[in-house]
Amino acid sequence: MDKDGTVLSLSIQKTWDSIVCGKHFYKKKSLGGHMKRHPERPWRGLYPPPTSHHAPEACVVCGKRFDSKKALGGHMNQHPERSWRGLLRPTGEPAAARNGNTTVPLQIDLNQPAPEE
Ligand SMILES: [Zn+2]
Ligand SMILES: [Zn+2]
Repeated sequence: MDKDGTVLSLSIQKTWDSIVCGKHFYKKKSLGGHMKRHPERPWRGLYPPPTSHHAPEACVVCGKRFDSKKALGGHMNQHPERSWRGLLRPTGEPAAARNGNTTVPLQIDLNQPAPEE
């Protein structure tokens, strides 16, 4: 009577786990809602930011690192002097080729909100 296939397909479904209390969720959205119950966690989002050596998104202009493309996208508004649109330099254009034009020094982003909540 048992249908083996059904059980198997359920067991391989990806789960989203609360890293705080270990609860499992089958939808990212569900975990997102659940994480509001852990306001004490020191990071934002579902999972803690990756540790130092690897940041998912980095600003190609000033090297600042961000947890998400969205955050980086907001930050890129502070580099209106860049000659391309979007987050990344167009491929095929060597960074060194632009050095002659680059007159804008690295800036500290004073307008950035403090990382602490
Ligand atoms: Zn939890
Ligand atoms: Zn930047």
